[in-house]
Amino acid sequence: MESLSSWLRRIAASYGMYSDALLEYGLGQRELSDPELDLNPPTDLLEELAKRTGLDQHRVNAMTMAGWVPWLFDSLIPAPGAYETYVHQLSVLLPPKRRNIYAPRKWRPWLPETGARRGCPDCLESSPALLLFRQLPLMASCLVHGRRLETYEGHPPDYILWATPAHDQRPLPESLSLMDRRTWQAITTGSVDLPRYPVHAGIWFRLLRTLLDELTTAQGRYGRQLEDVRRVWEHCGHPFRAGLYSWQPFETLHWAVQQQLLEAAAAAMELIEAGSLTALGTSAHLLRPEPNPRISDGTRPGTRTATAQEKPTLDELWKQATDAPEVCIAAAKVDPLVAQQLYDFARYGCRSEESVGSLRETFAELHIPLDFCHKQRINDPLPDLE
Ligand SMILES: [Zn+2]
Repeated sequence: MESLSSWLRRIAASYGMYSDALLEYGLGQRELSDPELDLNPPTDLLEELAKRTGLDQHRVNAMTMAGWVPWLFDSLIPAPGAYETYVHQLSVLLPPKRRNIYAPRKWRPWLPETGARRGCPDCLESSPALLLFRQLPLMASCLVHGRRLETYEGHPPDYILWATPAHDQRPLPESLSLMDRRTWQAITTGSVDLPRYPVHAGIWFRLLRTLLDELTTAQGRYGRQLEDVRRVWEHCGHPFRAGLYSWQPFETLHWAVQQQLLEAAAAAMELIEAGSLTALGTSAHLLRPEPNPRISDGTRPGTRTATAQEKPTLDELWKQATDAPEVCIAAAKVDPLVAQQLYDFARYGCRSEESVGSLRETFAELHIPLDFCHKQRINDPLPDLE
């Protein structure tokens, strides 16, 4: 998945032009910086490019971050409560509601405030195409060449200066390669084969971001899981909490620290999959191979009791919503928390005020109470896409 700015640069080069000239004289646009092109460029530019190149509109959109709403981002517009919605619906290492709920200002998942230049030296040697997702701290390795991604300065292919210190030649842990393969599968196919069952890409990205939050939360919140979390850090060989003294959102951390956190997340997944961590989070079972008694215990639809332990989690809801929608709806009618999770999940797919409106109508028709929809959630800004 090449980024739009990189693609335009290569198209322009084939005409012997620079991309700003192509934008201005060839496409009638004002000058747009690379970050503007890759984040959320004007819709008419994307339409024009699709028309002229004959590429499918979705293929062109997917070269921008805006094309990844709602799977990777709930929205590109920072909103109050966005962090909680993205990072606190799931839990993995720690029981739900254990972590501090931070509310970083202007936060968007995965997007650093200043763009990072990150790449695989082998990839850039063979092709000048820059991949969109390498701008995000989402993967730490190149799957083709089996090596770590590194940061650089300059403008490939003309000039490039790798910023990674030469001593950083640690071998790539197998757990990290596996996690990155799963992330790549999410990006390219829309779902990820986890030991239990395939999950939607939207779940995978949130699961990963949740784990990163658990690994950076204040040490005082770990309680009896402190030993487990310490073992994760020992297993991956990095300092506890990647050496952080105070909390910061993952997105604003230095790449060296982000790498340590990604490796710790991969190590945690490996330990959970091997059954050697207790992992009391509601989504930890997704990483374990054995069947989940809570889903396959033969309980008849609608007879589930709404005790704290049996509340389905977001990913179980997704599974149930595709397997047996009536179970999910029945649970949502009696349990406001389930109703809220179902609503939030369905809302990922809404790209306009109208579609949120029709979602609410559907809930009303199904007699699912929407009491949980306090003002802020209803008025969440929506991405300006279609
Ligand atoms: Zn590579």
